[in-house]
Amino acid sequence: MPFFSQQLELRQGDITKLACDVIVNAANSSLMGGGGVDGAIHQAAGPQLAVACRQLHGCRTGEAKITPGFDLPAKYIIHTVGPRYRDNKKTAAQLLAACYRNSLDLAAQYQARQIAFPAIATGIYGYPLAEAIPIAVLTIQKWLNQHKNKQLQVIFCCYDHLTYQNYQTYLEKFV
Ligand code: ADP
Repeated sequence: MPFFSQQLELRQGDITKLACDVIVNAANSSLMGGGGVDGAIHQAAGPQLAVACRQLHGCRTGEAKITPGFDLPAKYIIHTVGPRYRDNKKTAAQLLAACYRNSLDLAAQYQARQIAFPAIATGIYGYPLAEAIPIAVLTIQKWLNQHKNKQLQVIFCCYDHLTYQNYQTYLEKFV
């Protein structure tokens, strides 16, 4: 399990298995479940999650909302909605950065010590990994620098090996 700085860690595996304070869900704006990591989280957290999500009345792209983890080993789930990768790269990049920032802000509000992120928007939403990874890493690094007192541990939890390898290459080069 390589560490890239005191606060950044890279892992390969299933985010639903992580016993950390917060795991982040790459949700869709309905918050009512979907495919990919969203489906896996709803499946593993159990039916109470959909009940809790219904009360949140959706989530806009770039924003983040929190629920308990229910049957998951994680205490909380932060649901954030990544941008669908379209022609307007600038807007998509800003929205993707907002997902990471808003998730970190919310985790800090809940006094979280660890937060695990999947590679938001890089699956069904089609964001190219090569563009999404620098946005994720640089946004998180900037947030950590601005919130040194929070001592939040950030885990990049990559499900597939290609995503893991891409993160590893980037982190080895730039962190
Ligand atoms: P999006 O709709 O935001 O693109 P996806 O769930 O389709 O979200 O994909 C985001 C990333 O989550 C992809 O890298 C995908 O491989 C990964 N993923 C899927 N299932 C899991 C899981 N159980 N744990 C961690 N990451 C997962």
